[in-house]
Amino acid sequence: MIIRLSPHITPDTSAQLHDQLQALQCSVHAVTTQSASYLVCPGPPSIDLRRVGFLPGVADVHAVSETYQLVSGSWKTQRTTIDLGDGVQIGGGHFALMAGTCSIENETQIQDTVAHLVQQGIRIMRGGVFKPRSSPYAFRGLGMEGLQLFYQHCRQAGIKIITEVMQPAQIDQMYAYTDIFQVGARNAQNFNLLGELGQQDKAVLIKRGISGTIEELLQSAEYVFSAGNERILLCERGIRTFETAYRNTFDINAIPLLKARTHLLVIADPSHGTGIRNLVMPVALAAAMAGADGLLYETHSQPELALSDGQQSLSHEESAELVARLRQILPFCCRS
Ligand code: PEP
Ligand code: MN
Repeated sequence: MIIRLSPHITPDTSAQLHDQLQALQCSVHAVTTQSASYLVCPGPPSIDLRRVGFLPGVADVHAVSETYQLVSGSWKTQRTTIDLGDGVQIGGGHFALMAGTCSIENETQIQDTVAHLVQQGIRIMRGGVFKPRSSPYAFRGLGMEGLQLFYQHCRQAGIKIITEVMQPAQIDQMYAYTDIFQVGARNAQNFNLLGELGQQDKAVLIKRGISGTIEELLQSAEYVFSAGNERILLCERGIRTFETAYRNTFDINAIPLLKARTHLLVIADPSHGTGIRNLVMPVALAAAMAGADGLLYETHSQPELALSDGQQSLSHEESAELVARLRQILPFCCRS
C-alpha cells in the first residue's frame, strides 16, 4: 500500500497517522522525494483502504500488490519524465538519445564525439571514466581527470553527461560533473550504491544485471526511490543466456513488459545488448518500436582503435544513419 501525504501535512498529523497505521498492523516506511512524501506499507493490504483514505493528512492511497511498491505502475498512471535542464528532457514525448564512446579516452576523442553529437542534435553524451573490466589489466578509465575534461567540452556544447559510478565513495567527487549517474550491470544489486544514489537529486540510470530478472531490476529501482530519488531510468542491456554467438541476448520482451509494470522510463542499450556492431542498428530500431523511451549506445570516431568495446561501437557514419532511421520510425513506435 502506498499513501501519498498531503503536501501541507503538519508534523503532528504525520506522527498521528503513523500511529494509526501501526495500530492497524501496517509496517510503515516513510519516504520523502523531490516531488512528494509517501508512507509505504509493503505487503498485501490487510485493511480496507477506505479506512485510510479518510485519515487526516492523506492525499491518496493505493493498493500495490507487487514486491516493489513505489516504482510500480499500478498506483501512478502518468509516466515519469526527467528534465535535465537547458531544454534536455526525457519522456513526455521526448525520445532520449545518449551516445558516445564506451570509455573517455583523451581530449581529441572527446572533441570528435561532441562534434558528432552536435551535428546529430544529440544532447546527452555517454562515456565511462571508472570502467568495470573483466580483466584487471584492461584499460580501466581516466578517473576524475577524464570526467573533468569530459565536462568541460560537454558544457561548452550544451551537452549533458551520463557516466558510470562504481562505488558510493565516488558520488561526491563526480556530482558536479554528472547529469545522470549510470549504475552498471555488475552493480545492479549493489544496494549500498543504490541507497546512496537515492539520496541524490540527480537522475540515475540502472542497468539490468548480467543475469538479472525484471523483478530484480525493479527492486533495485525501488532502493533508489525509497531512499528519496524519483529520477530513475531503467536500462535493458541484454542478459547472459546459453547463446554464445553474441555477447549478450538483448531481451526485447523486457521493454514492453517493464513499461507495463512501472511508471519509470525505459532505455535500451543495443551496444552491450548485442556486442556486435552490425547488430546494433537493427536491435536499436526494434527497441524503439517496442516502446523504449530512449537509446544508450556506443559510437567512436575510429572504433577499431577504441580502448574498450570497439567491436560494438558504431562509426559516426553508422550513428548518423541510426539517428536518421530513428527519426523516420519514431512516429510509429508504441510509446506510452
Ligand atoms: C558501459 O556502459 O560501458 C558498461 C560497462 O555497461 P554494462 O554495465 O551494461 O556492461
Ligand atoms: Mn562499453
